[in-house]
Amino acid sequence: MAKSPETEHPNKAFGWAAKDKSGLLSPFHFSRRDNGDNDVTVKILYCGVCHTDLHTIKNDWGFSYYPVVPGHEIVGIATKVGKNVTKFREGDRVGVGVITGSCQSCESCDQDLENYCPQMSFTYNSIGSDGTKTYGGYSESIVVDQRFVLQFPEGLPSDSGAPLLCAGITVYSPMKYYGMTEPGKHLGVAGLGGLGHVAVKIGKAFGLKVTVISSSPNKEDEAINRLGADSFLVSSDPQKMKAAIGTMDYIIDTVSAVHALFPLLGLLKVNGKLVTLGLPEKPLELPIFPLVLGRKMVGGSDIGGMKETQEMLEFCGKHNITADIELIKMDEINTAMERLAKADVRYRFVIDVANSLSPP
Ligand code: NAP
Repeated sequence: MAKSPETEHPNKAFGWAAKDKSGLLSPFHFSRRDNGDNDVTVKILYCGVCHTDLHTIKNDWGFSYYPVVPGHEIVGIATKVGKNVTKFREGDRVGVGVITGSCQSCESCDQDLENYCPQMSFTYNSIGSDGTKTYGGYSESIVVDQRFVLQFPEGLPSDSGAPLLCAGITVYSPMKYYGMTEPGKHLGVAGLGGLGHVAVKIGKAFGLKVTVISSSPNKEDEAINRLGADSFLVSSDPQKMKAAIGTMDYIIDTVSAVHALFPLLGLLKVNGKLVTLGLPEKPLELPIFPLVLGRKMVGGSDIGGMKETQEMLEFCGKHNITADIELIKMDEINTAMERLAKADVRYRFVIDVANSLSPP
């Protein structure tokens, strides 16, 4: 008979979990494996709240495996390291992102693209390399193979730096891969949420002109005056959208819901590139005519590999890029999720895990 989450491993653990597709999170006792020779045990300080956490607790994609302890934007302190661990020492400040396992021998892993390994395991709602279920960062600690642990640069704050571990790498990686970093070029960022607002900051650090394309007119002032965007387009304003046709070299699309690609493709110049990062629960329609007639390209991208994630953290440290956050206590998470569903967050919730998570 399968063991219960509380008894399958030797070490007691505590966190908050969704138990069914209502998505309601509540206290949850489970267990963590012993620290192995290649492992780092991390006491969790902060954990960001990604829209993927919301999609997963609500079973938007149909593969949630309850109970789900979400959380993959983790910053904490290494409290134990295995005897083969060379990169970390006890007391180091470390990060854990979306991936906590991969086969480490396939073509993707050999190219530092663990994020595309067919056997990659996610930090939660996945099966780990030991064959047991993974539980994420809405919890007091986590045990992770050293390959999937990141050094957290000294200058980056733990709370507002935590969202870089998913939001940061998810926008940085495609900008590098698809060649969207040429200074002076024009980047559109569709959807001004967790991913989108970091894309604005990273785009500016690359020297791009950045326009936000948003469904929320009330975000204009902040986009320009707080986040540093050069201009702002409301996607439901037909006149302004028309005036912007053919002006952008690249677009990063972070919209979390089903939406039309046609207007976004229209904003691109000939040879323009649209990279879709959002994961709506239903397929998007791909309009062929603007692609063919403008030699445009649509691509996708999934987070990033470990080497590139470390590179992104150093880049953000150097350019003082962090997320704009609303720091919450663990027991405020259900209200935060309701607000996230309504695009009402400026611009990432981060849970103060160490100061607010305690077993009942
Ligand atoms: P988020 O903070 O909720 O931001 C999403 C933004 O999309 C919202 O702030 C809103 O921006 C816009 N939006 C939401 N509903 C909309 C609607 N019905 N119509 C038009 N615009 C809408 O989410 P996030 O954490 O940035 O994640 C965004 C998406 O990326 C999610 O689907 C997530 O699962 C996915 N994701 C993908 C990867 C990857 O590796 N590819 C990694 C992480 C997350 P405005 O108010 O400005 O319109």
